[in-house]
Amino acid sequence: MSTNTKKRILTGVRPTGPLHLGHYVGALENWLKLQDEYECFFLISDYQALGDHLGETDRIRNSVIEVTLDWLSVGLNPEKCSFVIQSYVPEHAELFMLLSMFVPISLVDRNPTLKAEIIQQKKSDVSLGFYNYPVSQAADILLPQADLVPVGEDQLPHIELTREIVRKFNKVYGEVFKEPKALVGRVPRLIGTDGGAKASKSLNNCIYLSDSAEEVAKKVKSMYTDPTRIRATDPGHIEGNVVFSYLDAFDTETSELNKLKKEYQAGKVGDVAIKERLTKVLNNFLEPIRQKREYFKAHPEEVRSALLNGTARAKKIAEETMLRVREAMKIAHYEDLLNK
Ligand code: ATP
Ligand code: MG
Repeated sequence: MSTNTKKRILTGVRPTGPLHLGHYVGALENWLKLQDEYECFFLISDYQALGDHLGETDRIRNSVIEVTLDWLSVGLNPEKCSFVIQSYVPEHAELFMLLSMFVPISLVDRNPTLKAEIIQQKKSDVSLGFYNYPVSQAADILLPQADLVPVGEDQLPHIELTREIVRKFNKVYGEVFKEPKALVGRVPRLIGTDGGAKASKSLNNCIYLSDSAEEVAKKVKSMYTDPTRIRATDPGHIEGNVVFSYLDAFDTETSELNKLKKEYQAGKVGDVAIKERLTKVLNNFLEPIRQKREYFKAHPEEVRSALLNGTARAKKIAEETMLRVREAMKIAHYEDLLNK
């Protein structure tokens, strides 16, 4: 692996459950394309998961392995890119703490993604750790000095925050960090199978990459279509129709899909037919991923070395970054005064 000429990518997921179709079109698809061109760090943010899953030790631990299996199954290559477990790089905690000094509370208060997630949690007492997670993500990005952060649309406010932190840090302590850029995937925000604004593992309103063909069929069957339509002969609506949102994201036969949409709008096709088509499209897409998953489940040593080797590479770079940060901030740098 070439380490010094390529630009860097840092992005990741929270180990709060297995990965879903939203992850694929919003993030993984881009990661796959970029793994040759960039030096990639793909992070499993287990510290961050604690923010709203405290005490759920088994869920987080199992999800670390599930996410790794998902990554390997979609074709991320651990020879080319680094899979990183966040808590094995405790430099993260140090940088996170230091960066939080640069962030006015009012700025976090205005973060639209955070606001929506706090409402979604339906809790009056969100933990300080959760509230602060956008700053934790800034530390994730800045530890490997990433140039590019490929993410779903919901993450954009956090990248903007990171850029603001960089500007402030560099102004106060000199040029240490560079401003990372965000790259949003083909489908910026895949809606939930329940029609909710975003498919999300915490809400369990998603089709997982590891779902069986039967599970996929069941989930598609329960999707909303067009609530205004009573009979299959009534003209149907495409907009806001969950089945068509998923077909738009996954059906590669565009001209056939356009024909189907026209027929649906004319009341010539029923919901059963569009759901059957979606089930077929999704299962065709997922089948090779399922097969690769079985392979990696049977080869745990490959999963282990992917995680440990990637984490070791990230740890080394994080140590180098922290030396620069401490030097710039004159943290743990008192020898000159003590030796007077
Ligand atoms: P959680 O509910 O625990 O927050 P999540 O489903 O939102 O889980 P994350 O681990 O928070 O998943 O997100 C990982 C990456 O996948 C991020 O870049 C995020 O923007 C992207 N992503 C997640 N859900 C979607 C979606 N429905 N559409 C597009 N991108 C998504
Ligand atoms: Mg999320």
